[in-house]
Amino acid sequence: MKQWLLNEEEKTMKKTIEEIETYYEEKRNISRESIREGQPLLEKLNEKYQVIRILDDKGNVMVSVSNHASVSLLPAAQPKRLEIEYHLVNDERSIVLRKPFHFGTASGTIEIIRHLVKVQHMTNMLFIMMTCIGIIAMVMSALIGMFIAQHFVGRLQSVTKTMMDIKNKGFEQRMDVPASNDEMTQLMIMFNKMMDEIQDSFEQQKQFVEDASHELRTPIAILEGHLSLLNRWGKNNRDILEESLQAASQEVVRLKKLVLELLDLSKAEAIAVPLDLQPISPSEAAEQVVKNFRVLHPSFHFIVDNELEETVHVRMAKHHLEQLLLILMDNAVKYSQQNKKIMVCLKEEGKYVSISVVDKGIGIPRDELEKVFLRFYRVDKVRSREKGGAGLGLAIAKEIVDKYSGQISIQSEVGAGTTVELFIPKAVL
Ligand code: ADP
Repeated sequence: MKQWLLNEEEKTMKKTIEEIETYYEEKRNISRESIREGQPLLEKLNEKYQVIRILDDKGNVMVSVSNHASVSLLPAAQPKRLEIEYHLVNDERSIVLRKPFHFGTASGTIEIIRHLVKVQHMTNMLFIMMTCIGIIAMVMSALIGMFIAQHFVGRLQSVTKTMMDIKNKGFEQRMDVPASNDEMTQLMIMFNKMMDEIQDSFEQQKQFVEDASHELRTPIAILEGHLSLLNRWGKNNRDILEESLQAASQEVVRLKKLVLELLDLSKAEAIAVPLDLQPISPSEAAEQVVKNFRVLHPSFHFIVDNELEETVHVRMAKHHLEQLLLILMDNAVKYSQQNKKIMVCLKEEGKYVSISVVDKGIGIPRDELEKVFLRFYRVDKVRSREKGGAGLGLAIAKEIVDKYSGQISIQSEVGAGTTVELFIPKAVL
């Protein structure tokens, strides 16, 4: 601002000099006398706090006009061209403009001395104004900052309080989300969602432990019954001894199977698919499992319908694919009746390899189809238990398939049969 004001001052001074020059240039036969005659014009052109002087070539003052200003300059030599100087005398700054002139026979210097009272005044004013505005802005921003900080701290305190409540009272507590839509609200919404998920998984775990202990209780109770029967009567009665021992060992087998399945489920939950997993051929795995089933269940007729090309592979641990096929084929065998034909079909389905196990067994009612993937869910509890099932097979299968980003689906019709289809992502070789 100051520089701009100084430039403006210089400009007006130069203009004044030009006007003086034009005035004298228009005159003819210029002499010392006629230069003095220009005094009224100089007075007219002069501004406040300014002195205009015309000096002869020896530095003597010919005309001098002054408006609220005095000159205390040392005499200077005649300049060769326009000169601008800044002076500081008694704390008073002034600009001095000097320009040589040659009018006819007369020559000398036009000199304008301007005290920078106005500029000084303006810069002082500006400084005071800027300082005031600066202070006001600082105070305002401090107040606004304090208000915002208090607002956020208040909400942070409520977040901390809810967290403490959750810690002390349990998962039911949630944050009261305000209507605003800022980062803090987003955080609160996210927190509530996260708590919902934690609560869900916590309740699922609780349910699972309850179901598992319930499942374990039945065979243990049966075992206990037979042992007390043996204790009381079995020592002398051979028939009771035989029968109870057989029943007890059957329950132990069931118990062992249940414990192994529980272990399988927890292993399936913990599957971490390594990135460098070697691709395997699904056809080979299917052929191997079917071969074993043919030996185990000679009364069944197993057909493999393989439409896969030899190059098609899946990136899956071999034992996991075999475990999947084992679960599905075991169910197909368990829930087949007179029609003992079981088909295993392999084909490509876009980005997936589809493996389906088709049986002509008892089937599943339509409204129960979705539930068969739940843990411990059995369509017909008695029949399933008789067959040695605890309702964990399909839950384990779903867990494994999910871990490999695949899908599992089931179609069934009561009395006609069931098809369980696996979709496993193809490996890009
Ligand atoms: P389980 O070990 O009891 O067979 P699963 O999780 O494998 O448990 O299956 C859950 C339920 O789904 C079974 O109890 C059974 O009622 C039904 N189910 C599964 N597969 C078949 C099938 N192929 N045919 C008829 N019902 C089936």
